Amino acid sequence: MTRDGWPVPRLGPYPDRPRACPADRPPHLPLRPLWLCRACGGPWPCAEARLLLTIEYAEQPVNLAVYLSGLYHEASHDLFRLNPHDGPTPRDLFDRFVSWAPYRRSGPGGDRRR
Ligand SMILES: [Zn+2]
Repeated sequence: MTRDGWPVPRLGPYPDRPRACPADRPPHLPLRPLWLCRACGGPWPCAEARLLLTIEYAEQPVNLAVYLSGLYHEASHDLFRLNPHDGPTPRDLFDRFVSWAPYRRSGPGGDRRR
């Protein structure tokens, strides 16, 4: 909180997706600042998280890009602070957090496949 009582802006979004699926199982969300999956322990986003995010954001690929880019920023910050000398490179983290997603472009004629 600031002296005026306003919350300090976060660097990026709060990692609250993907939702638990099925609902009674632990969600595949990141454990910060390590960015390991809370459900399966793998590097986040794990395969299950990627699958669920792809489904959740199937109709909003730009929203998925914004969400993942924000978390990439957050993860870069956390992981660099944890291991400033030989942690993952920005390129490694970009591939892990952002570039895997099935972003699609509508081509002429409406073909949405890559
Ligand atoms: Zn997982």
